Amino acid sequence: MSVHALETAVRTPQPIATADIAARAKRVATIAAHHAEAVDRDGRFPVEAFDALKAERLLSVMVPTSLGGGGASVGQVVDICYALGRACSSTAMIFAMHQIKAACLIRHGAHEPWHADFLRRVSSDQLLLASSTTEGQGGGDVRSSAAAVRVEDGRIHLERDATVMSYGAQADAVVTTARRDGDAASSDQVLIVFEKADYTLTPTQAWETLGMRGTCSAGFALKAQGAPAQVLAEPYALIHAHTMTPTAHLLWSGVWTGVAAAASERAQRFLRKASRKAGGQLPPGAAHYARATASLRMLKSLIAGAQAEYEGLLDDPRALAHLDFQTRITLLKVEASELAVATVMSAMRACGLSGYRNDGEASIGRLLRDVLSAPIMINNDRILANLGASSLLSDVPTSLIG
Ligand SMILES: Cc1cc2nc3c(=O)[nH]c(=O)nc-3n(C[C@H](O)[C@H](O)[C@H](O)COP(=O)(O)OP(=O)(O)OC[C@H]3O[C@@H](n4cnc5c(N)ncnc54)[C@H](O)[C@@H]3O)c2cc1C
Repeated sequence: MSVHALETAVRTPQPIATADIAARAKRVATIAAHHAEAVDRDGRFPVEAFDALKAERLLSVMVPTSLGGGGASVGQVVDICYALGRACSSTAMIFAMHQIKAACLIRHGAHEPWHADFLRRVSSDQLLLASSTTEGQGGGDVRSSAAAVRVEDGRIHLERDATVMSYGAQADAVVTTARRDGDAASSDQVLIVFEKADYTLTPTQAWETLGMRGTCSAGFALKAQGAPAQVLAEPYALIHAHTMTPTAHLLWSGVWTGVAAAASERAQRFLRKASRKAGGQLPPGAAHYARATASLRMLKSLIAGAQAEYEGLLDDPRALAHLDFQTRITLLKVEASELAVATVMSAMRACGLSGYRNDGEASIGRLLRDVLSAPIMINNDRILANLGASSLLSDVPTSLIG
């Protein structure tokens, strides 16, 4: 290795080792688990878990080491989402949404001076990024925006009806979609970073839901202004296909599988205890535990397959944009969300009345309420309807192993 390469290697910190990331995530998960019931009961932001995530520098875990981050891979971050999902669903979902936004800036903005500097501050100050794609009554129609960027006196301005924005009030910055300008079509979108000092949030809708209560996903009227450099140069359409959708579906699936694993663990403990008390006899619902184990295994292989495929294509924009990959990574969300709900339901059935209770070690109530958000967080029916026509173009596989 040349002296220059050696000096560069020495100057450029190495990515955080997987074992170290896992150890940090485990410490945070312990704290998150301790407060999970209160976060759910009070519908409050999991502040203790996020103080720990910042102390462990996990908010910048995916930021390149050259920008002060941990240089972690998507796969390593999926595993953090899984570990946190086993502890506190809301903490895990907030962490996942933050990382999805970070991934969009890292992969599509790190070469731009403003965004490179912003990513350095995400690392140095452990900034939390909120996401705003839902607008007005449009719900999960992410590839369509109403509000447009307005340029006045060299500044950009945006006013947006952000009907659902998780941890909007607690975040240090908002990463939002918008129409490129007043004449642009609704699908001609850009992605913009606004820092807390750039915007005001006026509450418009409370977040009073069955589950995921700690995500504090209230509605706000967002009024923001900033410098034109805060708009990413690459069109949102490309960012959406290459990074937003793949990372969202992988990280969300990691979260939901964590919730499903937590439910399975409770069912396993319950069944072991019950069978010990009954001289080895299993309770009537025990067969459901086998189903929970089976669907959890399916989730693991589904996510591992999609993660490996995505990481293998990261430097191949043509393959990333290809119908086959887009169909598979889009369907991952549908399959993983449905399987996660099925796993938690099986775990509850395995525990019987003890699982149906809101109290006690075998209570599955909170986990079930949280995981039920999965099929409607961008509704699976919307996704399948959007896939309808394009899925007619992809071939039926000619081989199972090829
Ligand atoms: C836990 C959780 C966290 C979320 N966090 C964020 C976030 O941080 N940022 C973000 O931008 N979005 C967030 N969302 C919203 C999400 O992205 C979708 O917008 C939402 O799930 C609705 O998806 P949908 O429109 O596909 O489905 P559905 O909810 O089934 O909506 C169907 C239809 O109802 C109408 N509709 C939807 N929402 C509304 C509404 N609020 N008022 C009136 N009509 C409506 C729409 O026409 C929509 O097409 C979150 C959702 C969940 C469940």
